[in-house]
Amino acid sequence: MAQLSDDAFAFGGALAAVADAVAAILARVAPVPETEEMPLAGARGRVLAADVVAPLPIPSFDNSAVDGYAVRVADVGTDGRTTLKVVDRVIAGSAALVAARPGEAIRVFTGAPLPPGTDTVYMQEDVEAGDGVVTVPPGLKRGANARFAGEDLAAGAVALSRGRRLGPADLGLAAALGVARLVVRRRIVVALFSTGNEVVEPGAPLPPAGLYDANRPLLAALIEAAGARVVDLGILRDDPAALAEGFARAAAAGADVIVTSGGVSTGEEDHVKAAVERAGRLDWWRVGIKPGRPVAMGVVGGAAFLGLPGNPVAAYVTFTRLARPLLAALSGESWTPPRAFPVVAGFAYKKKTGRREFVRVSLAPDEGGRLVATKHAQDGAGVITSLTMTEGLLDLPEDVTRVAPGDLVGFVPFALGE
Ligand code: AMP
Ligand code: MG
Repeated sequence: MAQLSDDAFAFGGALAAVADAVAAILARVAPVPETEEMPLAGARGRVLAADVVAPLPIPSFDNSAVDGYAVRVADVGTDGRTTLKVVDRVIAGSAALVAARPGEAIRVFTGAPLPPGTDTVYMQEDVEAGDGVVTVPPGLKRGANARFAGEDLAAGAVALSRGRRLGPADLGLAAALGVARLVVRRRIVVALFSTGNEVVEPGAPLPPAGLYDANRPLLAALIEAAGARVVDLGILRDDPAALAEGFARAAAAGADVIVTSGGVSTGEEDHVKAAVERAGRLDWWRVGIKPGRPVAMGVVGGAAFLGLPGNPVAAYVTFTRLARPLLAALSGESWTPPRAFPVVAGFAYKKKTGRREFVRVSLAPDEGGRLVATKHAQDGAGVITSLTMTEGLLDLPEDVTRVAPGDLVGFVPFALGE
């Protein structure tokens, strides 16, 4: 498991900007060293541990992009049509053995090698084929409808960089290069539990003053989407002994990270703080993020500890904006903040300076086709429908104090932060 030093998350008192908190996390957390080799079929979502260097160019030979006739473009007249003699026929997968001499064309099909001597391909729709001849119009540029060796990627170029999380197209590119196995980091292990005497497992009867555990399924899915493996430690009561036992189980499971929700406000019934301090070290991160404060970070037995707020929307926002980069750093994944796209605010909003606010919104085009953001009616940190009935988060920077209707604001679709 991860071996962080106890003071890995030591943090000064001032309110930190989200970007500074993330930069501090990225600077302090090294990737797990273990790697493994995976066949492409199992590699989706895994993080590359070494660059993939192209062992061959793509395409690896000059070929036709269409069904048609390969010609020497210099033979084609610039006004009027030109008739060429058809001297061979080449299909995909066959070698082009006959070279075209001046005045000659060769019938080719998509993917067939470009015959020697030819440099350009006429689409079959654009020509008039006769008996052993083809008549072509003027006007094609040299190289039209042909794909030349290395024009997509040169041999020796870095095709996929270390730190990249592999998506479907990456697997396609590796396969196109003939690379069947990839060296990836091991998946990190994240132990997850919820805290609170009121929190009840879905499916069980709901006692008076109880509430079902929304956070664990939400966070487990986010952790898995980040490529990590979840060890589910269930719901722990607000009781120091139960929490201590939870930490011991996380250590026994080899957890690299422990994620909890609830129990980290500064109320006297919040026991997570005391339990973490007993088992390791806790640092309060005063991060200027809304919804979301407070977030506790620490180290328990070499594993990173992340105490997220109990309210589901606050847990979601702090996970995606703070925990996600921490998991990336441990996983060896190069992480960049999710990109915000400009949209038009459809509402007025006031906020304090010094904190970054994430506002749940839906988008709809106005008459001019511009996307206008509408805020969810209720914006409490516990309003879980504000995550299911909207499309993403407006990301309002620290220095913004008000938004007026018509202002351009940054929108991040939910999926991009996850
Ligand atoms: P806490 O941080 O423990 O004070 O919790 C803040 C609020 O979030 C309280 O209303 C809790 O009942 C609620 N909460 C805590 N954990 C969960 C959970 N796992 N699922 C849904 N709500 C929760
Ligand atoms: Mg609680």
